[in-house]
Amino acid sequence: MPEPVLEQAASEMLDWHGCGMSVMEMSHRGEQFIEICSQAETDLRELLVIPPDYAVLFMQGGATAENAIVPMNLLGRVAQPKADFVISGIWATKSHQECQRYGDAHIAATNATATVIDGTQQAPYTWLPKSDTWRVRKDAAYLHICSNETIGGIETMDWPDMQALGAPEVPLVVDASSHFLSRPMQVDRAGMIFAGAQKNAGPAGLTMVIVRRDLIGHALAICPSAFDYKNVEAQRSMYNTPPTYAIYIAGLVFKWLKQQGGLAAIEQKNILKARALYDYFDHSAFYTLPIHPSVRSRVNVPFFLRNTSLDGAFLKGAQERGLMQLKGHKSVGGMRASIYNAMPLEGVLALIDYLKDFERSHG
Ligand SMILES: *Cc1c(COP(=O)(O)O)cnc(C)c1O
Repeated sequence: MPEPVLEQAASEMLDWHGCGMSVMEMSHRGEQFIEICSQAETDLRELLVIPPDYAVLFMQGGATAENAIVPMNLLGRVAQPKADFVISGIWATKSHQECQRYGDAHIAATNATATVIDGTQQAPYTWLPKSDTWRVRKDAAYLHICSNETIGGIETMDWPDMQALGAPEVPLVVDASSHFLSRPMQVDRAGMIFAGAQKNAGPAGLTMVIVRRDLIGHALAICPSAFDYKNVEAQRSMYNTPPTYAIYIAGLVFKWLKQQGGLAAIEQKNILKARALYDYFDHSAFYTLPIHPSVRSRVNVPFFLRNTSLDGAFLKGAQERGLMQLKGHKSVGGMRASIYNAMPLEGVLALIDYLKDFERSHG
């Protein structure tokens, strides 16, 4: 979380704008909260340049719940409930598996196998098949991609153009959870985008859903009414009580991002941060990077110590310097630096200093 946002929230904790109430005490249908919520929507629309034919929904359940909510809302658009998936790592795999409960979930492309790119061996889940090799069914209800694999560290910078994939009628669905608001996004290439707030945009408990309005209104009969985008849109995210405090904090983050110069400016900062870190790794023989350079994530940077018996000492030393949460996900091992928006360049430089010192003393 950006510190100025936490400071503002602290100063408004007991009394929001002189109304005598904390945001936590407001009715979600009261005039103050409706103002907070609609301002958050306006700021998010401005930041991402969301066209008017897209609805912005504030929901709950996280991206994991969207793995079920998306098929329940979109599979009803086509005669046979089917959807296609690009497997890029753990998160896309979870989305694919969840969809199998609701229809025919087909794999359009996958990186679950090893491959050779330009003579270099790439392990499973460390590369991405080029989009001209994806096999998308023309009658699928949607094509799902995860545009940033948080655990694997693979980012899709250019979202596919469905026309070029030969499936112009198939909307693209993007799980953008972990790089949402880290850069401008090609919203109009997607039929819908969803993201849990907690990685880059605010506290846990809020899911942001951006969905083209023509995709709304085709929910399967089994879809819970609170998760039917039609109901949520009709009630402007107030079909039932939304996560009010999380929306308020996310709204402060949106304002902070605007003060930083918007997403183009944030992207420049994130490029500098990622470049500094990758440059260091690329010149080191002590650490290795698993991900193919063409798909390296700017926000989640997995790396390994060549000598894994030093992992414990590395993590202990990092913690002593205040460098936290560097342990890689248990499914991947090694290390992972997550350098979300709120991480300043100085934080990345402090990490690089540590990497250098550790290499010097153990290399
Ligand atoms: C964190 C994450 C999820 C899961 O989010 P929850 O809010 O825990 O459900 C899904 N997809 C991606 C890409 C993520 O980074």
